[in-house]
Amino acid sequence: MKEYNYCPICATSLQMGMIEGRKRKYCPECDFVDYKNPLPVALAVAVKDKRFLLIKRGLPPRKGMWGAASGFIEIGETPEEACLRELKEETGVSGEIVKLVGVIRIDDKEIYGDMLIVAYLVKVKDEKLAPGSEAEDARFFDIAELPGYYSFFLKDIIEEIQNQEVF
Ligand SMILES: [Zn+2]
Repeated sequence: MKEYNYCPICATSLQMGMIEGRKRKYCPECDFVDYKNPLPVALAVAVKDKRFLLIKRGLPPRKGMWGAASGFIEIGETPEEACLRELKEETGVSGEIVKLVGVIRIDDKEIYGDMLIVAYLVKVKDEKLAPGSEAEDARFFDIAELPGYYSFFLKDIIEEIQNQEVF
């Protein structure tokens, strides 16, 4: 993860000190404290006819791997809005939120560090896929052919979908 060495407000060299019970970098000139918080990400467990819509990631982290459409929540956006926007951007399809699947912490060693993932179950409304610039590909997977890491994280919701008539 990239670190601040200089104050992003006034460009003074940051110092290390105990602030609110943790070692943090702070600026001795202005009030800036380099708080480290997890980055909020919305993720779409997108389903149609008991098949899961995954993208082949076009950008790091995990470039080239298949996974759920996801992305950072923007200022002014609800997690639900971010989830549906990312799904649309990365796969070209619209969807509707069914429910919250869960909130998970992931530590991305590659770039972003601590991330707070808000995962929703999304019912896909369109058929036609049009992967966006951040995805190399997008397609539907049958439950049996889902990548192991995907089924591991989402085994409860996959089981639920397998047994439900509505999907
Ligand atoms: Zn400063």
